Amino acid sequence: MATPAIDGWFTTGEQPSLLGTRCVTCGCVYFPKQDDYCRNPGCDGSEFVEHALSRTGTVWSYTDAQYQPPPPYQPPPGDYRSFGLAAVELPEGITVLGQLADGYGVDDVHVGSPVELVVETLYVDDEGPRTIWRWKPTDLDGGTR
Ligand SMILES: [Zn+2]
Repeated sequence: MATPAIDGWFTTGEQPSLLGTRCVTCGCVYFPKQDDYCRNPGCDGSEFVEHALSRTGTVWSYTDAQYQPPPPYQPPPGDYRSFGLAAVELPEGITVLGQLADGYGVDDVHVGSPVELVVETLYVDDEGPRTIWRWKPTDLDGGTR
């Protein structure tokens, strides 16, 4: 059974979503979770509720990661391959960094590309597959993959 590599940051299943928090006072949404004080300078709220973020957003910026990420990243066997990283703007007004989904690279996205949240296996340990969120491009010129 697959379990998240980081506990409590996202839901799994058919329609996974990232889990942030929402300030009860002003409605600002935070990811990662913020639950002690509100970063909105005009708000003194201190009460937060869990908030499932939108599953889709648009690419705000992206890069081709040419370096080996630090642990807990587990490289696949063989030579290191670069992968695409995207900062994705969600309708809530926040930007969330994530790797592009398996099989996709920076050639598949541009600024403004629509993407969808998916949960994929990051690595496998004694407990089984460990998962992480990734961004899957949903508007590819080349059709389906
Ligand atoms: Zn607030």
